[in-house]
Amino acid sequence: MQALLLEQQDGKTLAGVKPIEEAMLPPAEVTVDIDWSSLNYKDALAITGKGKIIREFPMVPGIDFAGVVRESADARFTPGQQVLLTGWGVGENHWGGLAETARVKADWLVPLPQGLDGRQAMIIGTAGFTAMLCVMALEEAGVRPESGEVLVTGASGGVGSTAVALLHNLGYQVVAVSGRESTHDYLRRLGASRIVGRDEFAESRPLEKQLWAGAVDTVGDKVLAKVLAQTNYGGCVAACGLAGGFALPTTVMPFILRNVRLQGVDSVMTPAPRRLEAWQRLVRDLPASFYEQSATEITLDQAPDFAEAIINNRAQGRTLVKIR
Ligand code: NDP
Repeated sequence: MQALLLEQQDGKTLAGVKPIEEAMLPPAEVTVDIDWSSLNYKDALAITGKGKIIREFPMVPGIDFAGVVRESADARFTPGQQVLLTGWGVGENHWGGLAETARVKADWLVPLPQGLDGRQAMIIGTAGFTAMLCVMALEEAGVRPESGEVLVTGASGGVGSTAVALLHNLGYQVVAVSGRESTHDYLRRLGASRIVGRDEFAESRPLEKQLWAGAVDTVGDKVLAKVLAQTNYGGCVAACGLAGGFALPTTVMPFILRNVRLQGVDSVMTPAPRRLEAWQRLVRDLPASFYEQSATEITLDQAPDFAEAIINNRAQGRTLVKIR
């Protein structure tokens, strides 16, 4: 089998497609032949070595994949069945999806939901799944289309793009924050009604004019601090990312004077029932046009170059990796 293999030499991460004996795959119940994977921000950090994602080398990265079960020692999965996987540390501490074959725990797999093929599942991937969890978090906090405008930061990225498309399709007025002029047409096509420059989110006071009923933040740091200061009384901010940094230079003011809720969103350890719910929602709530507008399809060999592009904020939307 072919796999993207990460090795370490003199503290540097080296990435290259290599032939691997299948016997080297980690032991687990289900063997999956992979058709599609994708590149997420975390994959880009791992492949470029810019983030401390991988602690044991060699490692096959790839935090998500879609494919077909070849062998299963677990009764829930049968050969020929289509499955997908996101998270659970796969591609971080267990060999992952940027390979022709993976061996994983049955508990980690999701049967491919009806109405979705493997390619579409990986256009969505971890990023899109996380966007859905963020939208669900806003809904659970009572943010409705009639509540007012909702903000999406890092809007042209994988999570941001999917959040814009989902929220627009659900009837929300979506305002997108982007650091790049070149993404504006794309964001309007996804459904953003307005676009605000990232530079407007550089500095903030503890409380500012109330502008947003809710927000999906993929950026963190000063941008998230500004979003919190501008969130309406009783609003909610779903925070899932750190593309701008992991700090949070804020005060308690939005929480204690405006009843603002800061809802963290993690996709890696999401329990199985919520996973199924989120995937079913994605089938229902993501418009067909999203799949054409938001994906750049690449091969396994191209993954290292595209990982660099993601880290350097040169990618747009989702990066889909065709494995077979
Ligand atoms: P992408 O690289 O696809 O998108 C990130 C976007 O953030 C970019 O497109 C850019 O948008 C913006 N951005 C990039 N660099 C900076 C910067 N220095 N300052 C401010 N904004 C910046 O990544 P993903 O969408 O895949 O992931 C987004 C974030 O969410 C990442 O931090 C990732 O780790 C996190 N994440 C978390 C998950 C969880 O389970 N909690 C799951 C998936 C992702 P623009 O150019 O439009 O401004």
